[in-house]
Amino acid sequence: MPAGRFVLLDVALAQDAEIELPAEVAHQVRDVLRASLGDTIHLLDGRGATYPAEVVALDRRHVVVRVGSPRVRTADFPVRFVLCQGMLKATKFEWVLQKATELGVSAIQPLLTERAVAATEMTGEARQRRWQRILAEALEQCGGDRLPELGTPRPMMHALAQMPPGALALFPWEVADASPLRATLGEAVAERGGAHAIAEVRIFIGPEGGFSAGEAALAQRHGALLVTLGSRILRAETAALVAITLALDAFGALDAAPMR
Ligand code: SAM
Repeated sequence: MPAGRFVLLDVALAQDAEIELPAEVAHQVRDVLRASLGDTIHLLDGRGATYPAEVVALDRRHVVVRVGSPRVRTADFPVRFVLCQGMLKATKFEWVLQKATELGVSAIQPLLTERAVAATEMTGEARQRRWQRILAEALEQCGGDRLPELGTPRPMMHALAQMPPGALALFPWEVADASPLRATLGEAVAERGGAHAIAEVRIFIGPEGGFSAGEAALAQRHGALLVTLGSRILRAETAALVAITLALDAFGALDAAPMR
């Protein structure tokens, strides 16, 4: 079967059950993934469980699968990685949603910041549904186990004030004469006694117009660590990818051999 054999199916699944797939999922399996009778697909519940499922019946109207024994992962990584992303133009923001999901962030919190792009495009429920679909498609493509939690756009203050115990906040700011992200992260982890003491790494990335000095000062007052991503000014979407990758790698989260 071609790559991308993972399908998100948010229904209660039981081993050895034979289930008829909902119409839109049946279409995806039959017409997009081009599954055949006897093929195995992998059903994701989006909350950590993956079920191999054999296609036992398939025609133009129905696809029935027999559910196998699940593989459940308590968490993708030992640490939660949360991206707090300043609002960007729609296509850029959606690109960040997709890449952050592929990389395995636990949550994405859109930020309303002083210089964020006015949300002129789709807003409210319709936009959240579109964003959720982007997360789901990215999870199916990469075979991840957990959908990132997706917040609704909130002021940055909210993301700073809501930091859980054991959280570590990184604030990449191209204006600051700060230490590199990896070095800063390594020092912070050592100061706290080791990686086990870190429950969450929260990464703040600004909008196209960047963070203001006032926002950087506010973040520092809440314990966020200013870091640099190098001497070049990266686009927000590039910065998000770089910061997430550096943080994941610092915790060995990119070392895991594929568990498929
Ligand atoms: N002030 C920038 C400019 O002059 O174009 C715009 C900000 S940049 C496009 C968007 C965000 O990416 C920044 O708010 C920051 O979070 C991050 N960023 C980009 N380059 C960075 C760097 N070299 N070091 C740290 N953060 C960076």
